[in-house]
Amino acid sequence: MSSSFLELNAISRTYTSGGEPLTVLKEVSLVIQSGEFMAIMGASGSGKSTLMNIIGCLDKPSNGTYFIRGVEVARLNGDELAALRRDTFGFIFQRYNLMPDLSAVENAEVPAVYCGMSKTNREKHASDLLQELGLSHRLNHYPSQLSGGQQQRVSIARALMNGGPVILADEPTGAIDSQGGKEVMNILKNLHGQGHTIILVTHDSDIAAYANRIVRITDGRIVADEQHQKEDSGQHEKSVETLKKVKPGVAVLGESLKMAIRSLVHNRMRTALTMLGIIIGVASVVTLMAIGNGAKQDVLERIQAMGTDLLTIERGTRSSQHVSGGTVTSFLPEDLPSIDSVPGVAMAIPETELSSLLRFGNQDMMVTVVGTGEDFPQVHDWPTQSGVFFTAEHVKRYAQVVTLGQTVTKNLFPNGSNPLGQYVLINNAPFMVIGVQSSKGSTSRGDDRDNAAWLPYTTAGARIFGQRFFRHIIVRVKPGADMSVVQAGLHTLLIDRHGKEDFNIRNMADTIATANETQNTLTYLLASIAVISLVVGGIGVMNIMLVSVTERTREIGIRMAIGARRFDVLFQFLTEAVMVCFIGGIAGVVIGISGGLFTSAISGWRVIFTVTPVVISFACAFLTGIIFGYIPARKAAQLDPIEALSRE
Ligand code: ADP
Ligand code: MG
Repeated sequence: MSSSFLELNAISRTYTSGGEPLTVLKEVSLVIQSGEFMAIMGASGSGKSTLMNIIGCLDKPSNGTYFIRGVEVARLNGDELAALRRDTFGFIFQRYNLMPDLSAVENAEVPAVYCGMSKTNREKHASDLLQELGLSHRLNHYPSQLSGGQQQRVSIARALMNGGPVILADEPTGAIDSQGGKEVMNILKNLHGQGHTIILVTHDSDIAAYANRIVRITDGRIVADEQHQKEDSGQHEKSVETLKKVKPGVAVLGESLKMAIRSLVHNRMRTALTMLGIIIGVASVVTLMAIGNGAKQDVLERIQAMGTDLLTIERGTRSSQHVSGGTVTSFLPEDLPSIDSVPGVAMAIPETELSSLLRFGNQDMMVTVVGTGEDFPQVHDWPTQSGVFFTAEHVKRYAQVVTLGQTVTKNLFPNGSNPLGQYVLINNAPFMVIGVQSSKGSTSRGDDRDNAAWLPYTTAGARIFGQRFFRHIIVRVKPGADMSVVQAGLHTLLIDRHGKEDFNIRNMADTIATANETQNTLTYLLASIAVISLVVGGIGVMNIMLVSVTERTREIGIRMAIGARRFDVLFQFLTEAVMVCFIGGIAGVVIGISGGLFTSAISGWRVIFTVTPVVISFACAFLTGIIFGYIPARKAAQLDPIEALSRE
């Protein structure tokens, strides 16, 4: 165990994929000392690469044992194997396997990323290595801008990045011209001189001649093992470090972010389309919630503007309002004085409404005719603008007088002509206009409250409605009086008078609670729609990430060969998914806010932005990224490095 550096005992490798099992390595035993320069020669298909991959811990033997510095490789876990590939072995491939989106320096840097070296240090180290290899003028070139020989030198720099005590070169000159090949071989020879152990695969005896030892392999078996020049200078043996502990945690966060941005920018169109789902989801949450909040606030304010010290007495019990409809005979004018006498009641007015035709001269319009009492303006805090509201005297005398709303006045008396003293016809009965109410705007349902005409309830009952009953009575409670006490007092009184409960009394608190409930239901509905669109967006992200993993299988293989742990790969792809959702989330918030403002600007709706929906939708987008990004990322992380590397 003592001196052997790498020791293979009866190693076999059988491929089971694709029907018949195929044994391509047959009981290969080999001891390699530190500082050797060894060439493996053999015909194409003889198993050279397979052997090389096993030596480099990229592949596992089917049978036999393999020791590195006395440690049995089969006992190592995935992270420990990754650490070996990262710190002990430096791979050089026939086809260079550089990453096309990274510059020469960045390509050389990658192995150092996975051992957590700082950006400045690894940039310096990578540039130094490239300079030593004669590429000082090509540091920022991309692989496509470099010749084969130059690319191979970049990949040598990459192999040396973490020290690379053992260089594994699989036909390193196979794809470059003879001049470039010579340069590469001289570099390897130099590295050997510096104490690196070099293991080289070739079928070219001129190339093999650089080595001190040549192992020949035919059909998966070693058929010759020759030592050449034995004058190995080998004093300066590369210090053989012990297995480094694998650094836990996220050494690659910065690199992952950078790679994610690069890949997203590279596929701009695709990224934008993927993000669209997330953007629509987040934007719709933000906009819809703002509109919903605005509407809710509006409703509440309007209810409150109607007065919180009002009680409404309606016909019918709450459950039977509609059933009792026309036959109910409650609320006659005689009820009013007794209601007035209930302690705490400031005033009470009846209100009965009917849409009727109103005519002035040759103009007709439909207005809401309200039969009510003289206290209407005080009860509703709704002042008369010009003229007067009708009085108790008018009510008593069944006077044919009317107070008009702003909309009616504007339509029938344009250009400021004075309506006071004029006669209008309502249901063909003449009424004299004695006042004009100030404007009150629309109700929460959007009805124009100014499109109305107010008549004494006596006159309205006789002339317009044809019945004396009131639809409801509005009671204003004295300041400081307890609402519920007054409500109870009214309840007792009306039961007494009517002998049964054919009415119900509502206060504003009830109304507000009901309105709140309705609005909240609406909000939840909107929120669930938004969540659905986020899920759809998430599925889009997952779909695209799966495509991305498939496209980049080779990149994943390269990264694993040069030291990425499965966790690093998982993290990289997860970062990308999360970033799509993160950017989509930001864009969604911005678009959602703009959408809300725009809606408000063109429709006049009130919008209220609160932090909660913004935070929630953003968090959902983020979670979507993690959840839907995980499956593709895990798929990437579980790829077999060898298979990934062989993918085109
Ligand atoms: P060499 O590098 O000497 O040309 P390889 O080691 O690459 O040879 O391949 C040896 C044999 O193993 C070949 O016949 C090849 O077809 C087969 N082989 C290589 N990889 C696989 C694989 N993943 N599945 C099945 N057979 C494989
Ligand atoms: Mg090969």
